[in-house]
Amino acid sequence: MTSNSLTSISHITTLSCSKCGKDYSPEVLQRVSECCAMPLLARYDLEESFSKDRLHGREGTMWRYQEVLPLLDEKNKVSLGEGFTPLLSLKALGNLYGFENLHLKDEGKNPTGSFKARGLSMAISKALEMGVEQCIIPTAGNAGVAMAAYCAKAGLPAVVVMPRHTPKAFKDECYWYGAEVHLLDGLIHDCAAHVRHLNQHGDYLDVSTLKEPYRLEGKKTMGYEIAEQLNWSLPDVILYPAGGGTGLIGIWKAFQEMKALGWLPEDVKLPRMVAVQAQNCKPLVDTYLGLQENSQHYNGLPTLANGLAVPRPLGEPLMLEVLEQSDGTVMAITEEEMIEGVRELAQKEGLFVAPEGAATWIAARKLLKQGWLQAHEQILLLNTGNGQKYMENMDGRWVV
Ligand SMILES: *Cc1c(COP(=O)(O)O)cnc(C)c1O
Ligand SMILES: [Zn+2]
Repeated sequence: MTSNSLTSISHITTLSCSKCGKDYSPEVLQRVSECCAMPLLARYDLEESFSKDRLHGREGTMWRYQEVLPLLDEKNKVSLGEGFTPLLSLKALGNLYGFENLHLKDEGKNPTGSFKARGLSMAISKALEMGVEQCIIPTAGNAGVAMAAYCAKAGLPAVVVMPRHTPKAFKDECYWYGAEVHLLDGLIHDCAAHVRHLNQHGDYLDVSTLKEPYRLEGKKTMGYEIAEQLNWSLPDVILYPAGGGTGLIGIWKAFQEMKALGWLPEDVKLPRMVAVQAQNCKPLVDTYLGLQENSQHYNGLPTLANGLAVPRPLGEPLMLEVLEQSDGTVMAITEEEMIEGVRELAQKEGLFVAPEGAATWIAARKLLKQGWLQAHEQILLLNTGNGQKYMENMDGRWVV
């Protein structure tokens, strides 16, 4: 089962501690690193030939990049058709606000209605490959729904722990997939504490954000797709709604890998990455701006954008690294502004996006006004989810 054995479809070589670089075997079930209790990052043999010509004719899912994904044996793949989501041009909004080159990648088109499908498809496939018998997750909503769906497909029991205030559509969809659902007062870190309690004997695989190495690998495929869909060029700026940060970290990881693979032009300039958060819960913004040393004691409020209600993200140092390396920035968006963004994208572009996605649009508008963005730059918004599950919290707000 070594990385370059003929039977493996993956070029994975090791899992390395994101803090100190210590290597761990990908052939054993791993959680965070034992050395630093920090996320593990999958590393691949990027010298081994993987020409992008090989992508021709492959299926239109995230699995087309299988060599740089961790699954060893195709028979363990648990797929519902995730990935290869549309990259759309936003002409009407662009014209209205003075953007010449504005795009949106619509992750709401994924199975279960969010980009969490990518991460959970990967994590549950690996769980199956490792012989895991049941899975558990603390979630703000979408990750739990996705895990419940992929566990159903894999035939694994699923336990989902989510805040009681999460809209009904998220809870009900988990029930439909046959998951056991626990509802708690509080935010996702309170749910995480409950998961630790339920899993005190280690009966479950805990697929919390960045506490196992493989959700990140699923999410990074967004980075590969953005490049492939733009014919191996990259946008000037990417705006991403950051909660736990897997998308931000994953997309940046994909860019580094593609550079090493020789898939990007030698002189490629990587995009400036913008982390967009909710005014109600903006730990990364506050740390970035120097208002606190880190978010370990940050307290947030619930927000319409459930996915952004992550007060103490484990991946904060990695997110800060991406912002620094990419010359990026941060921005916090209010609840009212998110609703305005949902309305504008719906009424001008025919897209019913999640409030998280709408936040990236509002952030782009503001950054253009501030001069941080230029009108001619190629700007990519990531809409991470479909608006439908959030309707109960936005009731009637289609009118101003
Ligand atoms: C989870 C989620 C996010 C945040 O994603 P992270 O990878 O945790 O940063 C953003 N938008 C939606 C719709 C989500 O479900
Ligand atoms: Zn370490």
